[in-house]
Amino acid sequence: MPQFIGFVAHDACKDDLLAWVSTHKERFRDRRIVATGTTGGLLAKAFPELSVTQLLSGPLGGDAQLATMIAEDRLALLVFLIDPMSPQPHDVDVRTLLRMAVLHNVPAAFNIATADYLVESRLFGSAYKPGRRDFSEHLGRLKA
Ligand code: PGA
Repeated sequence: MPQFIGFVAHDACKDDLLAWVSTHKERFRDRRIVATGTTGGLLAKAFPELSVTQLLSGPLGGDAQLATMIAEDRLALLVFLIDPMSPQPHDVDVRTLLRMAVLHNVPAAFNIATADYLVESRLFGSAYKPGRRDFSEHLGRLKA
């Protein structure tokens, strides 16, 4: 199953994401991008040469969709620029997305500095596949 690179930016961070993608555009040319609705729309408009799939807008379920993609092992990397100064109506979905990234060991950046580290890593674009935890104990917990 093809893996995507996921992008989300809260409203105050959308310009930062566009500038960051512009700087690293070449690295995303042969990758499939998936993003929450408004973020994805801005990316698609600014970079028509990139492959961008738009999900629902974040507060309308887009963050939850990205969390599901992580659970389904369809996300290779997440860049989620979080605005730490504004309350978000969909905070519970945001936390779900963060939890899924941690639970399933997906490389994830929540600010530009970490995003820089990820994209400059020698592992970026390599065949590197993060290990996923074995949850068989959890799955078998109610079996006799
Ligand atoms: P948006 O969602 O890209 O639709 O603005 C971002 C978010 O989750 O806040």
